Amino acid sequence: MGVDSGLPDFRGNEGFWKAYPVVARLGLSFAEIANPVWFENDPELAWAFYGHRLNLYRQTTPHAGFEKLLKWATGKPAGYFIFTSNVDGQFQKAGFSPEQIEECHGSIHHFQCLRGCTRSIWNASEENMIVDETVFRAARPLPCCRHCGGMARPNIMMFNDFSWLSDRSHEQQKRFAQWLQHLPKKSARLAVIELGAGTAIPTVRHTAERLVGRSSALTCVNPMFRRDISGWQLERCKVSSFWKR
Ligand SMILES: [Zn+2]
Repeated sequence: MGVDSGLPDFRGNEGFWKAYPVVARLGLSFAEIANPVWFENDPELAWAFYGHRLNLYRQTTPHAGFEKLLKWATGKPAGYFIFTSNVDGQFQKAGFSPEQIEECHGSIHHFQCLRGCTRSIWNASEENMIVDETVFRAARPLPCCRHCGGMARPNIMMFNDFSWLSDRSHEQQKRFAQWLQHLPKKSARLAVIELGAGTAIPTVRHTAERLVGRSSALTCVNPMFRRDISGWQLERCKVSSFWKR
């Protein structure tokens, strides 16, 4: 849905480099640039990457599929919960309740101190990023910590990331667990709709697999993915045919 909304496709280095040709010229893969070390070594480059994406996600209108999902979800007596590894905030923008979303890898719309002087995580809605896309550098002043004045960074779990503050995601995780706990009291059975989850970083896939034991149905929607799982009421189809139903 993100790609259909005009967001860059990060699948594979080729897709990533097509979206970020300057990063390709630097010879950096997605995993190499999505690393907090750049905020120390070359903050203008780090903020070019994250600032560009922040601006892009702010400008993007959520795909029509979000609206359909929301309609289905809010129509259920026991409601819904979203578990996503996306950091783009599109679920909130599409009208899903922020209280009913777990962003397991954090959110680009929230910042934290780079060196972790405080565990504070703040909403970045007042931060404006200017990125010169031709040279792929962010303009100063760069976002800074509201407490120590040092460098800030997005509250996203990156690669080789030992300074990501997980508190916000952890609170979301607790709300998800509470929602799951209350389902039997409501005599509700769980249906899982897995959208676009890959196997390279299988956080979403593992969560769906963990939940499927208690679910009445699992639907996987991923045009790139095929496999048979015996015993699951598994329905596999392409995104395009899925949304036409
Ligand atoms: Zn600080």
